[in-house]
Amino acid sequence: MIASTAQLCEHGRAHGYAVAAVNILDDLSLRAAIDAAVARSSPLIVQVSVKTVRSIGVKLLTTMFRLAAGDVRVPVALHLDHCPDRGVISAVVAAGWSSVLFDASDRDLDQAELETTEVVLEAHRAGCDVESEIENIVGVEDDIGSDESAHAYSVRTLAEVAARTGVDLLAPQLGTAHGLYSSAPVLLPDRARQLAALTDLPIVLHGGTGLTDGDFRAFIDAGVSKINISTGLKMAYMRAAQAATAVAEETGRWDPPTMFRDIHQAVQAEVAGRLDAFGSAGQAEGAMATLAVR
Ligand SMILES: [Zn+2]
Repeated sequence: MIASTAQLCEHGRAHGYAVAAVNILDDLSLRAAIDAAVARSSPLIVQVSVKTVRSIGVKLLTTMFRLAAGDVRVPVALHLDHCPDRGVISAVVAAGWSSVLFDASDRDLDQAELETTEVVLEAHRAGCDVESEIENIVGVEDDIGSDESAHAYSVRTLAEVAARTGVDLLAPQLGTAHGLYSSAPVLLPDRARQLAALTDLPIVLHGGTGLTDGDFRAFIDAGVSKINISTGLKMAYMRAAQAATAVAEETGRWDPPTMFRDIHQAVQAEVAGRLDAFGSAGQAEGAMATLAVR
């Protein structure tokens, strides 16, 4: 069942869990992620980076998603991850995606607010939710972002801008970073709690790879209801490929479907572990009962 991103997260917040948003890279990882959600009876957000959209194309991605998620008995949303490019936003909004992250963190505040308002108008006309990022979450992910914290605001400003622009989900800076951590991050669950006291909008945690299950629980208890996992899935994918390639070298048997099976298993296990950690396992039926079908 294809679901609304914001509605899934609202169900998560009301029931003390977060929805995992996993960055898929192709049909193999897409099916593995959905199989994990089905096996765990969990809601899921499938998200796609702009880099992957450019490599596969909106039409093929949309069709793959509809075929993979349309008939399963768990709610699955399709989300465009970090996108500063209005052209790509318009393309996926027109294609009927569940939601987009309009990443305006490279703009100054006035410009970010102006453009976010425009994106919300366009997206809402098509029934698409908008996640907003006006502070930059540090780290580079699929060629987007910066290691410098260029824009940072108070939680009050974040809540006020969100109310004026009409966005549906908020991605604030919470001490996490994209990619792998070289030193332990200073996590800010209290900042999520302060923001949650000012707005009912779902709060999104980026840069989840490398955090402990206890870290995730602290953020969920503070009001976070969407947690993004990208690097962990990429590592599971490529390590499985690496191991399969090593076996092929050794045995002289070069059989891609064997490698695909190994990658599928590794990605499914990685996603299933996150669904357990985020508390969303077993929540699919409850979520579907309260969601408007799209
Ligand atoms: Zn992110």
